[in-house]
Amino acid sequence: MSAQFENTVIVGTGCAGLTAAIYTGRANLSPLVLEGILPGGQLTTTSEVENFPGFPEGVDGFQLMQNLRKQAKKFGTRYESGSVTGLDVSQWPYTVKLTDREIRAKTIIIATGASPRLTGVPGEKELYGGKGVTTCATCDGAFYRSMDVVVIGGGDSAAEEALFLTRFASKIYLVHRRDSLRASKIMADRALAHPKIKPVWDSVPVSVEGVKEGAVSGLKVKNLKTGAESIIAAKGIFVAIGHVPNTAPFKGVVDTNDQGYFVATGLSQVKTKTPGVYVAGDCADHVYRQAVTAAGMGCAAAIEAERWLAEHGG
Ligand SMILES: Cc1cc2nc3c(=O)[nH]c(=O)nc-3n(C[C@H](O)[C@H](O)[C@H](O)COP(=O)(O)OP(=O)(O)OC[C@H]3O[C@@H](n4cnc5c(N)ncnc54)[C@H](O)[C@@H]3O)c2cc1C
Repeated sequence: MSAQFENTVIVGTGCAGLTAAIYTGRANLSPLVLEGILPGGQLTTTSEVENFPGFPEGVDGFQLMQNLRKQAKKFGTRYESGSVTGLDVSQWPYTVKLTDREIRAKTIIIATGASPRLTGVPGEKELYGGKGVTTCATCDGAFYRSMDVVVIGGGDSAAEEALFLTRFASKIYLVHRRDSLRASKIMADRALAHPKIKPVWDSVPVSVEGVKEGAVSGLKVKNLKTGAESIIAAKGIFVAIGHVPNTAPFKGVVDTNDQGYFVATGLSQVKTKTPGVYVAGDCADHVYRQAVTAAGMGCAAAIEAERWLAEHGG
């Protein structure tokens, strides 16, 4: 297996990775970007993005990522397909491992994102992203003004998503498999006291309705106590059962918290305990999880990488 040598390797082509590529590219570092299994990242799975600054009319998620990719390419970014399977930082330049090759890199920016958890019921995948099933109320809540929606989940994020949706939706059905929320007491009390939020207890999703029509028309649920099935009519379904950060290949090398998200060192949001190795975007942020915050972290990681290289022989 022969190794190639790089100044900067960026892992991931979401908003964080591509913004890091724009900045390191403009700093003449000729970054190499590894795309992973979802080139363009999570935003390619949605249609309209209305909250990315600079697009007053909104922008198609796929198009936005194509633009970022093009912009980074203009400044000398190179792209290679492949997924990282491991990282060795015992010797500098560090070794990025892929299934078929190894790459030696002076600096590494890990921007592998997070994957929203889905329930796996029929119809969910078909109607995900722009057709009514979503995993982000902050991103998509405003599309459901004066409509009935469903939130699936019982933890803090489900309660938070439901409360956020009360600004737009007429009614929010909160579907949970138990007869009380797992969320913290304060969040649960606030959600359950809201007149627009109606809990649907002891119930699990069975299928998302509307596949034939190409848009969500409701959620079929099953009551676990009675076995009865019913359909909740709704235009939007918000799945709020958590995210899985894509950090497994770096386990033991880059510190993570108990949910598996990367944790940065010191005051910085992007520096790790290994000099020259940075993290950015949703893989290191379980709080905001937005395109613009991921891009901001990508920018910060790139500036840190550039400064570190300037001091340590870039
Ligand atoms: C349906 C949906 C709608 C959304 N709508 C909005 C919106 O309207 N506005 C908004 O601000 N945000 C929205 N978001 C959230 C936004 O998409 C994310 O916050 C943003 O994409 C995070 O960017 P990222 O670069 O951190 O990671 P991601 O976009 O998750 O990209 C991760 C990248 O890493 C790559 N990767 C992963 N593992 C590996 C590996 N081992 N090796 C190599 N590469 C790897 C993947 O292939 C991918 O390219 C939405 C999310 C979803 C799911």
